[in-house]
Amino acid sequence: MKSLNFTYLFSILALVTLSRGKFIYSCKEKNTIALTFDDGPHYYTKEFVDYLIKKNVKATFFQLGRFHYPHGIDVKEYQDAMKKAHDNGIQIASHTYEHKISSDKSEFKKSLTKNDDFIEKATGDRPRYFRAPKGHCDNDCQKALDEWDYKLIQWDVDTKDWDLEGSGSAKQRVKDSINILKKSFNEKRDNYLILMHETEEYTVREIVPWIIDESGMKEKGYRFVTVAECLGDKDGMYRSHSSSGGTSHNNSGRCGPSYGSCPKSGECCSKYGYCGTSSEYCGSGCQSEFGHCNKTTTTKKITTTKKTSSTKKSSSTKKSSSTKKSSSTKKSSSTKKRSTKTTKKTTTTKKTTKTSSKKIATSTVSGRCGPDYGACPKSGYCCSKYGYCGTSSEYCKSGCQSGYGLCK
Ligand SMILES: [Zn+2]
Repeated sequence: MKSLNFTYLFSILALVTLSRGKFIYSCKEKNTIALTFDDGPHYYTKEFVDYLIKKNVKATFFQLGRFHYPHGIDVKEYQDAMKKAHDNGIQIASHTYEHKISSDKSEFKKSLTKNDDFIEKATGDRPRYFRAPKGHCDNDCQKALDEWDYKLIQWDVDTKDWDLEGSGSAKQRVKDSINILKKSFNEKRDNYLILMHETEEYTVREIVPWIIDESGMKEKGYRFVTVAECLGDKDGMYRSHSSSGGTSHNNSGRCGPSYGSCPKSGECCSKYGYCGTSSEYCGSGCQSEFGHCNKTTTTKKITTTKKTSSTKKSSSTKKSSSTKKSSSTKKSSSTKKRSTKTTKKTTTTKKTTKTSSKKIATSTVSGRCGPDYGACPKSGYCCSKYGYCGTSSEYCKSGCQSGYGLCK
């Protein structure tokens, strides 16, 4: 009787596991931490990618084409940041095209393909890893993803960095998220798969630096890796190009973490993952693990030159937003938001900045404001740098978004 019960229990367990689909909640490899970031690319992606590269930290971005405004599909700077991340071994994965999953299977597939097209156009690779918006994926959705060979990634630590309202202020949010992390790091688990959002300034500038520099996890022997690596999935990060049939190493002229070394000896692997022999390939940013390199100038120099050459008017704003951390940055970054929005309609930025405040709609999402939501509905309210309406100095002073409410 006892053994019969056991068999019964076992088959039930097996059924439950099967019908649960293919959600992956945790890493497999020992001493790994997979930092994952949803909802980008956005304002902070470029700065964040540079930071992670500087720190030699790998992570995974679950990105979309059209979600927060301005949309990833429309902004070259965001796409360049995705490419840089990809070429430096940061994993780019899908988070749907518009942050939603259609219950209609063919619609769902269409939107996934659209997002994969977007990611391939930006990075050169199609993702195999996927995270559902808010982690919601019902049985049909799970089955479909399995059929289309996507790996469905959840998390085992939620920093709740998305819940600013629950904490009341950004300062408190950082404290609360760090406390969540401290608690789970104290559990001394084999590995961690951590949910965060690259769209939150405090995540990029405060929570992640705490994890990397202050949590003590690095010192305890943990490594920051991509989800693919923490699962021990060595070459499944992206789909191999169907035409070249087989490994992505066949990509002629390409090199780097996703391609491997340059085939010819003496060739250098450039910072953007191309093989060549000129100083563009062998100089600053050259990836010595994947080919030959000349020892020359620092990386910093090149980054700044690139910044200035790529944009004209806004280059000064951009520089300040990526380097300084002071309150003045916030002001300038919010100006950037509005001017990007307005330049779409007319070419002269100066003219439209003034008129833009008139055109901005009132927010319909309770308590929220900013480029994604609109202006605070009640007069006398300020729109904080994090996009919340309020009247205290936290909302009305440094970083206050004057286009979406009062500022003092
Ligand atoms: Zn999301």
